[in-house]
Amino acid sequence: MLGKISFDQVVNACSQNGLRFTTSRQEIMSVLINSTKPKSAYQILEKIQKNSPSAKPATVYRGLDFLCKHGFAHRIESNNAYVACASSSDCNSAQFLICESCDATFEFHSHKFSNEISDHAKKEDFTITHKMLEIKGICRECR
Ligand SMILES: [Zn+2]
Ligand SMILES: [Zn+2]
Repeated sequence: MLGKISFDQVVNACSQNGLRFTTSRQEIMSVLINSTKPKSAYQILEKIQKNSPSAKPATVYRGLDFLCKHGFAHRIESNNAYVACASSSDCNSAQFLICESCDATFEFHSHKFSNEISDHAKKEDFTITHKMLEIKGICRECR
């Protein structure tokens, strides 16, 4: 795993943009930052319940929606799991290398790639709503 957004970076981004980084959002973000692999909403809930036994699935889903919407975390669609963003700035376009064997996920940002996709969308008069790309393979550890 390459770099990951830090907790402080999320705190700063929220205060700069007037976003509320509530306790439950903080708890979810901490779980994601401390995970080496993508985590399902249920796995996140289990971790949070150790400190906050009253946490509910809806709280986790709402918190994840917030974190993903603002680019602090991403949903890996093919695994239905969540990861902390690897970049520190507003992240709404990324590519992921995902190991089919152990689920290790490596996020990268290719501007070339991203621009090319935008160009194609423009030509087709197509409005992009989700610009994440998931690429499957086998990681170094599993080969
Ligand atoms: Zn990202
Ligand atoms: Zn692997």
